[in-house]
Amino acid sequence: MSATHHPQLIDQFGRVVDYIRLSITDRCDFRCVYCMSEDMTFLPRDEVLSLEECARLVKAFVSLGVSKVRITGGEPLVRKNALSLLEDIGQLPGLKELVMTTNGSQLEHFAAPLKQAGVRRLNISLDSLDAERFRSITRVGDLSKVLRGITAAKQAGFERIKLNTVLMRGINDDEALPMLQFALEQGIDIAYIEEMPLGEVDHSRESTYVSNDATLKLLKAHYQLISSTESTGGPARYWRVPHTQTRVGFISPHSHNFCESCNRVRITCKGELFLCLGQEDKVDLMPLLRDHPNDDQPLINAILGAMQIKPKGHDFDLRRNAPAVIRFMSQTGG
Ligand code: SAM
Ligand code: SF4
Repeated sequence: MSATHHPQLIDQFGRVVDYIRLSITDRCDFRCVYCMSEDMTFLPRDEVLSLEECARLVKAFVSLGVSKVRITGGEPLVRKNALSLLEDIGQLPGLKELVMTTNGSQLEHFAAPLKQAGVRRLNISLDSLDAERFRSITRVGDLSKVLRGITAAKQAGFERIKLNTVLMRGINDDEALPMLQFALEQGIDIAYIEEMPLGEVDHSRESTYVSNDATLKLLKAHYQLISSTESTGGPARYWRVPHTQTRVGFISPHSHNFCESCNRVRITCKGELFLCLGQEDKVDLMPLLRDHPNDDQPLINAILGAMQIKPKGHDFDLRRNAPAVIRFMSQTGG
C-alpha cells in the first residue's frame, strides 16, 4: 500500500485540512498568566483520552490524508508515557511531519528521546529572558531549566527549533528585541504571538495587547528583515534575517487574519474535535472511540462530517471585554 494518503478532509469553503493539533493533557507545570487562571481545575483521568485512544485517533486522521501532527497541551511532556505515544505516531506511514509545542521545562531529559521517536521540529515557549520576570509570567517556572532544555534540543539535532513568544504591554514588551537577539545567537527561529482572548484570566486582554505590526516595526529599526513567502497554512507571516539561520514569524490573529488559508483542526485531550481555535463548533469523538472499540468507521464518518461545520474564521474582538471562547488555550491545545 502506498504510504501517501490522499487528502479527504475538505471543508465547505474548499480548504484542505491536512494538519491536526492534538492536546494530550490539559495539565501543566506552569500557570502562564495569559493562558490559565491561578486556580485551574483539571479533568479527572477517565475523562481524558488514553494514549491508545490518542494513537487510534491520529491513525484515523492520517488515513484521511492528514500529513502533519502537532502534539501539544497543556504541557505534553507532563503526560506520563507521552514518549511511547510519540514513538507510535512517529511510525505511521503517510505522516510526513510530527512536531511538538512545549514549555521546555522537561526538555533537558526528553529532547534526545523525542528526536529519536521521530519528532522533527519543536516549538518552545519563552516569554522572558529575565529569571524573575519569567517566574512571574509563568507563576512557577524556572528559566534556567528551560534554557537548559533549549540547549539539549539544539544538541539533539531537531530540523528546526522555534521560540514562541507572547508579548504583553507593560509586562514583557520591552523584550521583543532581546528575544530576537537570543534567537539569533542560538541559531533558531522565533514567532511573536498576539495574545488571544481565550478563557477568563486575571487581566484585561485589551490592556496588555501588543500589535505585531508595532513589534515588526521595532525589529526592523534594528535588523534587516526580508519578507519570506514561506507559509505553514496558518495565521503566521515569516521574515528572514539575512546571513543567519533565523526566521522571524508573526502570528497575528488580531491585526492580520489568515483564516482563508486555514488547514488545521484541533483535538482536545477529551476527544473534542474543534474546527476553529476561536469558535465553539465541535464534534465529540470520545464516545465514538469508546462505543466502537474495534470499528473505526463511525469515527471516520464523524470526522468527514465535521468538515462541513468548519467555520469561515475566528471572531476575536478585544474590545468585547469578554473571552471570545470560554475555553483556555491549554484546554483546546495551542
Ligand atoms: N505548554 C506548551 C507551551 O507552552 O508551549 C504547549 C501548550 S500552550 C497552550 C501553546 C502555545 O499557546 C504557547 O506558545 C503559549 O504561549 C500560547 N498561548 C497560550 N495561551 C495563549 C493566549 N491566550 N494567547 C496567545 N497565545 C497563547
Ligand atoms: Fe502551560 Fe503552555 Fe499554558 Fe504556559 S502556555 S500555562 S506552559 S499550557
